[in-house]
Amino acid sequence: MWQAEVRVDLDAIRDNVALIRAGTTAEVMAVVKGDGYGHGMLPSARAALAGGASWLGVATLDEGLALRRGGIEAPVLAWLHSPGLALHEGVEAGLDLSASSLPIVEELVTAARRVGRTACVHLKLDTGLARGGVPPAEWPAVLEAAAKAQADGDFDVVGVWSHFACADLPGHESIDRQLAAFADGLATAERFGITPRYRHIANSAATLTRPDAHFDLVRPGLAVYGLSPIEGETFGLRPAMTARARVAQTKRVPAGQGVSYGLTYVTPQETTLALVPLGYADGVPRAGSNAGPVQLGGKRRTVAGRVCMDQIVLDVGDDPVEPGDVATLFGPGDDGGPTADDWAGVVGTINYEIVTRFGSPRVPRVFD
Ligand code: PLP
Repeated sequence: MWQAEVRVDLDAIRDNVALIRAGTTAEVMAVVKGDGYGHGMLPSARAALAGGASWLGVATLDEGLALRRGGIEAPVLAWLHSPGLALHEGVEAGLDLSASSLPIVEELVTAARRVGRTACVHLKLDTGLARGGVPPAEWPAVLEAAAKAQADGDFDVVGVWSHFACADLPGHESIDRQLAAFADGLATAERFGITPRYRHIANSAATLTRPDAHFDLVRPGLAVYGLSPIEGETFGLRPAMTARARVAQTKRVPAGQGVSYGLTYVTPQETTLALVPLGYADGVPRAGSNAGPVQLGGKRRTVAGRVCMDQIVLDVGDDPVEPGDVATLFGPGDDGGPTADDWAGVVGTINYEIVTRFGSPRVPRVFD
């Protein structure tokens, strides 16, 4: 018997990728960083590949190595590297690695030589997000170094890429500005003799709304898991994650009873309280205190009082709720129950954060 679980619908992940794939002539890189946005990196990766993804994307070298240790042989790009990492392990494992600066280009040359292999490199240009990526002023120097490494056999420059700042706001002026900067960066790369097989910039939002940004490869993450980056649009995606728990205890309390730490919820009348064994250690945002929606006994309730580390309380009135009944914090929403988007709206965050938080090892993940 289970107490709390995160169910992950791998068929939904597969189908979401197939849907994305059907909407583009580009290849699909499914982004599975952050433990597959909380859905489990390896099972999500396998499901995405089954749906037609031909690449996987992760942030860190360790995530990439974990994919290889898990038996994934598909192309993998890992893109976020501080200086001094064991990049040679990535080269040896056949990972594609991103370079966002001259020092990382130099480290990748050293790594390639150390293991006697050509490093598969994607050069990242900062086109306006001002996060990772080579600033335009340093782009020629990076291209020059990469072209030399390619001529020496140390590099295969597989990709030139970038990332959007506001693709989730269709029509935002920065999208076209970034696309123009990307085109400039590609033209400059060509002048240095670098014509990558993969040009890529599109996250989920751009994949779903900007076919002109697809180039050779799209890099959706959120949409793979069935969530939409754009409020009010589902794009036919199916959310893959359901978070739920069985009621641990119920009790009758009188009117005027304060509930949970701080006694911030006070029962308006005699009522039944139901204790649900999921808390902030499991990923329930504490900001959901007196706010988060939970489906129990066929009705939507609101968390009564503070979210605790391990548990939340619901006021179920006179409804016949029993210990063992299933309370759903969020899921696909097809039964009228709350979604990750509902939680995100209530606690003032994004759906990405809601699902990723539920990657806690305490809650067993069950794969359908
Ligand atoms: N590419 C990069 C570099 C990312 O950091 C991310 C995630 O933030 C993605 C692609 C996927 O973005 P999204 O989940 O919005 O599709």
